Amino acid sequence: MTDSVDVDVVVVGAGLSGLAAARGLQRHGLSVKVFEALDRVGGRVGSATVAEAHVDLGGTFVGPDHDRINALADEVGVGRCLTHEAGDNLLLWRKDRKRYRGALLPIGATSLLDLARIRSSLERMSRRIPVGRPWSAPDAAGLDAQTLGTWLTARHAGQAAKDLLAVVCKTSWGCEPSEISLLHVLHYIAQAGGLDPMLDTRGGAQEQHFVEGAHEVAVRVARALGPDTVRLGSPVLRIDRSDDAVTVHTDDGLTTARRVVVAVPPAMRHRIRFVPALPAAHRHLAQRWSPGVLSKIYAVYDTPFWREQGLSGMTISDEGPVFITFDAGSPDTSRGVLLGFIGGDYAREWDAVDAAERRVRALSALADLFGERALTPRGYIDQRWGEEDWLGGGPTAAPGPGAVASLHARLTEPVGPVHWAGTETARRWAGFMDGAVAAGERAAREIAVELTATPEEKARRCTPEEKARR
Ligand SMILES: Cc1cc2nc3c(=O)[nH]c(=O)nc-3n(C[C@H](O)[C@H](O)[C@H](O)COP(=O)(O)OP(=O)(O)OC[C@H]3O[C@@H](n4cnc5c(N)ncnc54)[C@H](O)[C@@H]3O)c2cc1C
Repeated sequence: MTDSVDVDVVVVGAGLSGLAAARGLQRHGLSVKVFEALDRVGGRVGSATVAEAHVDLGGTFVGPDHDRINALADEVGVGRCLTHEAGDNLLLWRKDRKRYRGALLPIGATSLLDLARIRSSLERMSRRIPVGRPWSAPDAAGLDAQTLGTWLTARHAGQAAKDLLAVVCKTSWGCEPSEISLLHVLHYIAQAGGLDPMLDTRGGAQEQHFVEGAHEVAVRVARALGPDTVRLGSPVLRIDRSDDAVTVHTDDGLTTARRVVVAVPPAMRHRIRFVPALPAAHRHLAQRWSPGVLSKIYAVYDTPFWREQGLSGMTISDEGPVFITFDAGSPDTSRGVLLGFIGGDYAREWDAVDAAERRVRALSALADLFGERALTPRGYIDQRWGEEDWLGGGPTAAPGPGAVASLHARLTEPVGPVHWAGTETARRWAGFMDGAVAAGERAAREIAVELTATPEEKARRCTPEEKARR
């Protein structure tokens, strides 16, 4: 295809989505160049070795129906294992530490009934939100005018239900219920297939993780793209566009292409100067779809000592900073690996203190759950995604009230030769690694149709959404 341009397609961002887009484009016979701002691939997936144990610093878990990330990992030979869940879970609740099994939290019958009422209202409302088209839901503007927090208050949710929904909010979006659009929450639940698939370990989105880590998937996909395809440490600063070509500016110079896939978090679109400027709604999206804040800690021990006490390692706490933990040990290590999450307001406060103080606070939260032995790990690491300059936070965008009904459609709507990817643009499992891969593959298909297909093939290859947009 390449004649008067340097490459057929430039991809901005070497997270899972940009890499999946580049892989898809190459498979359609198109030449690709990927520019990545950081000095590594993977974006919101990262890895480290702590006391000889591998740990995932960002995206970790996958569910049984996370088809796209699982297929990509299979293709590049990265295996999965089940998340450890044998034993009792722990709930640290109102200063009391209680064991429990399954999903029935020991919070008392009245609170359990209230929680069930709130959950079933959310599920029922979410079923009325068309997946991929939240703006077309009945009373979309009314739902979007509320936050999850104001809705909980209006529904007279008890304090226990409010606190547990805050745990869901911190984990899923890295924010508080008072910050996120109710319409977004409902659409997120709808596109994940319900609250259980979204939150559960067995049968849900936390069921498995990659033995060599999620980052290894990104590393191997990038390697398979071929030498010199991915340019690291090369932020895209500006994109000039005409009707059918782009010029992409980095510190290294200019690259011309027929199309560009921008596969960065929505808020990071704002850091690229588009010439001419993007339409107003696209600009507003980039300003208003800011990410939440979710940080992670890992403490690695000689053995998973909690298993000896019949504990699974899975805990929920109503005290910060660590409010959820998992046993993140892999079959390839005999070490005990505890993963703790710190999100929303907890993260904003904890992220701001120095490394030594962060460690003290995190380990003391683990000790409240697992006892004194948790204070002396063999290794410890933390990762503050809110401090990452080119990512801005995580795990995903947390749009506030009013930012969804009017702007969601702009997530994927191309602007001339500029196409969009990134997990937030996915139709299913948006916010997850699966959504990231699916979105990259969708962007690659869109462009392949435009650049390589005959008119008859174009009509045949289009997905229903692509057809609707054409
Ligand atoms: C703490 C945490 C825990 C998570 N847990 C899970 C989990 O258990 N399971 C799950 O499925 N998902 C999880 N996620 C979410 C998952 O990691 C993301 O959905 C996914 O990795 C996003 O991939 P992406 O390619 O869409 O975006 P990113 O990974 O954000 O990639 C975008 C890339 O673009 C680059 N970039 C930005 N601006 C520019 C520019 N101007 N020029 C060039 N490059 C640029 C960035 O540096 C980045 O590398 C988690 C995320 C976090 C942070």
